[in-house]
Amino acid sequence: MSRKYFIAGNWKMNKTPEEGKKLASEIASIVSKDASVDVVICPTFTALDRVSQAIEGSAVKLGAQNLYPKANGAYTGEISPEMLREVFAKFVILGHSERREYFGETDAFVNEKVKFSLENLINPILCIGETLEQREANETLEVVKTQLLGGLEGVEASQMGSVVVAYEPVWAIGTGKTATPEMAQEVHGSIRALLNEKYGSAVGEKVRILYGGSMKPANAEELLSQTDIDGGLIGGAALDSKSFCDLITAAKNAS
Ligand code: PEP
Repeated sequence: MSRKYFIAGNWKMNKTPEEGKKLASEIASIVSKDASVDVVICPTFTALDRVSQAIEGSAVKLGAQNLYPKANGAYTGEISPEMLREVFAKFVILGHSERREYFGETDAFVNEKVKFSLENLINPILCIGETLEQREANETLEVVKTQLLGGLEGVEASQMGSVVVAYEPVWAIGTGKTATPEMAQEVHGSIRALLNEKYGSAVGEKVRILYGGSMKPANAEELLSQTDIDGGLIGGAALDSKSFCDLITAAKNAS
């Protein structure tokens, strides 16, 4: 099964709107109209509009880093899918480990957001992954299973074409420590098996499963050559146009 590679940049709480515009313009001018790899950049909310304008006409797509699962109303500090759609955001990162850790997001809440984003035509990138403690206690596959099935509860097979899964071992995020390609493939393979079991292989085999956790140009090709690694969710290395575009090139080479 050939799946199109998917490279997404998670800028986290970095880049002002002006800085974001500059970085996005550099990426857009390198990617241009080449859509052989799906490329998504996810800036902060305040930079979305300017970044959206900067990538207009290129193959680069826009994503957000969060949304709230309500259409509008008294939810101070939150943002709705409609607001994201209006700036042409097509994707949203949900369940990132930083949101789970610092903002107490549970699988049930992440699941609400996944369903609401799908109902409102924003494609979710559902993040799952174990902590170091859980890996050392041999709980990795169980944790990943709980987060995956919890996040996808009530999501229909017909909606799975819009879902991207990102496996991000928490101990590898922003630490410079990367899972070895074999370690990552073991978890990606188990995620694939769970998707196949839940939705049937005709659906499960088509879902892109990204790896995230200190992915950089130096380790990308080996990771991306694994059977069930279909791209990357990139933090640190997405903040520089050269390293981000080198990762896109690595995905092209692995295609
Ligand atoms: C992330 O935050 O999703 C991530 C993978 O970060 P980094 O690449 O910096 O480890």
